[in-house]
Amino acid sequence: MPAKKSVLPARRKKKDPVLEKWAKEYARALIVSAHPDDAEFLCGGTIAMLCDLGLEVTLCVATSGDKGTRDFTIRQQELAATREAETRAACRALGVKHTVFWGMPDGFLEEGHELRGMVVRLIRTLKPDLMITWDGFRAGFNHTDHRVIGRAVRDALYPAAHDPHYYAELAQQGIGPHRTAELLMAGAHDPDYHVDVEPYLERKAEAIACHASQVENRSKDEILNTWLQAGKRNRERRKQTGFDHAESFRRIEFRRPAGAPGTPPAKRTR
Ligand SMILES: [Zn+2]
Repeated sequence: MPAKKSVLPARRKKKDPVLEKWAKEYARALIVSAHPDDAEFLCGGTIAMLCDLGLEVTLCVATSGDKGTRDFTIRQQELAATREAETRAACRALGVKHTVFWGMPDGFLEEGHELRGMVVRLIRTLKPDLMITWDGFRAGFNHTDHRVIGRAVRDALYPAAHDPHYYAELAQQGIGPHRTAELLMAGAHDPDYHVDVEPYLERKAEAIACHASQVENRSKDEILNTWLQAGKRNRERRKQTGFDHAESFRRIEFRRPAGAPGTPPAKRTR
């Protein structure tokens, strides 16, 4: 594998072995969200950084977000098309290479073996090293779709995606097992890992501004300025995360024993 050029700022290089690992060892990242703008709000800065580190990033959006409006004159199908176009534009701003839209009805994701099987197929096909999704296990209020997709991803990763006896029809089609190395759960009640996204705020703001139907047509600069002012004021956040502008996750690492079903070869190709 050719050596990767690091784009991490020097001050981070010494301090954060997690980011070093992402830069050196990971080839692909997969984000699975419930609604078209979830990923940009939750982790747009982290996604932009992963793209800059050279990872091939895919965003999968489970529902079409067809109920994301208070305007009853808008047809749901029209809104779904608008939101898909907004997401594609946001992904271009962040550097995301691939998008997958499942187009399921907003607000009606159902937990069960069918949805888990869709996630398993996606994982086995794209073979990500790193995944990001909602924390579907957090206590307290959360949207049902956020909860359901978070749990589906978590349950797909272990053990279904790497155990060939789960969803055996996939293995029969040549869609073999895969072990992902790491999961970041966003929107967690008790995050244990924080990414400094200050260098990526502008791209994150640009991506969010692409979701014009959701942000009342606020401009990139308006969004950015709100964050910059809040970052300076928010001492509590700085105390918790160590940064003025952070995206926070619950982080889980999975073992990839050499030779086990789904463990990628030691030398990855990009
Ligand atoms: Zn959402």
